[in-house]
Amino acid sequence: MNQNICECKQNDKKLICEIDDHIEEINMFCFIHHVISKVLNCCKCIKEGNHNSHHQNLKPISSLRDFNEKLNKECDNLIDDLSKQVGLINKQFAKLKEGIRNKFQLQSKQLLNLNYCQ
Ligand SMILES: [Zn+2]
Ligand SMILES: [Zn+2]
Repeated sequence: MNQNICECKQNDKKLICEIDDHIEEINMFCFIHHVISKVLNCCKCIKEGNHNSHHQNLKPISSLRDFNEKLNKECDNLIDDLSKQVGLINKQFAKLKEGIRNKFQLQSKQLLNLNYCQ
């Protein structure tokens, strides 16, 4: 029972800006930073112009979940593509090895024939 109450409170909890004199709710996120205080932004953060050079990287906090899912999907696709490329490289490498081996073995046989001829 107590756990249910805790969950309700968590859902209602608003995310407040971490910067000292900012008391406003987080409403935007910027996806090019790695420091959490620069990623999560309130209106005051935006007004202070910390992201003026890359406004296109600011998104509403409500779209964070979708954005994250999209990134995860892109990441999966990239890994799939890389796996396919590695598969192709392995195939090409196997062909190359076979080619080198065939060429070498042919030369050895020719060398043997040459010895018999003498
Ligand atoms: Zn702020
Ligand atoms: Zn930024």
